[in-house]
Amino acid sequence: MQNRLTIALSKGRIFKETLPLLAHAGIEPAEDPETSRKLILSTNREDVRLIIVRASDVPTYVQYGGADLGVAGKDVLMEHGGDGLYEPLDLRIARCRLMVAGPVDEPHLSGRLRIATKFVRSTRQYYARQGQQVEIIKLYGSMELAPLVGLADRIVDVVDTGNTLRANGLQPREHIADISSQLIVNRASMKMKHQAVTEFIHCIEEAVERHA
Ligand code: AMP
Repeated sequence: MQNRLTIALSKGRIFKETLPLLAHAGIEPAEDPETSRKLILSTNREDVRLIIVRASDVPTYVQYGGADLGVAGKDVLMEHGGDGLYEPLDLRIARCRLMVAGPVDEPHLSGRLRIATKFVRSTRQYYARQGQQVEIIKLYGSMELAPLVGLADRIVDVVDTGNTLRANGLQPREHIADISSQLIVNRASMKMKHQAVTEFIHCIEEAVERHA
């Protein structure tokens, strides 16, 4: 269908917080991804379907046209690099901060710092801007553990309330970036499905203003 839109979302916080924005655009999923095992969800609108993918895969699906649009955190987009994507709208949802954190009782640090993170690209860019040479250790999760067992001096992670850091004897040290979810659009879809895509963006923009 020429003007059918496929929208890529991830489960959890992004899905929950995107729902009211979609509702404003008259789009309601037929099923709840938390209880359904389906990866393609139809909606009340024949011309709109949702696909459920991992948060870090959303930009890739949209880049290669597996979806026309998607919702992805700025943290994920900074890691992806943004090739082949438009980022027309900040949805102002799923807000948090990308931060450097370290132990509350941090020993004196000297020499090249070891930083554990899954945000390798953002971390590399951040320390390059600071003119500081660091060793980056790639992890896929539970970064908070790394300083506790001597794997790294510090971590770079997303922080919301700070509870996870506190529970592990860590505290925020440096702010790297404010994070929120962005609407992203495949470049070809923006041309080929221009009317459907721009109408959708306008509806969502209105919903964002209303929820602000
Ligand atoms: P908190 O304990 O509230 O600081 O939350 C910290 C953990 O929740 C982080 O380690 C992340 O895994 C996750 N988190 C919180 N907010 C977000 C967000 N907006 N996007 C992605 N992950 C988040």
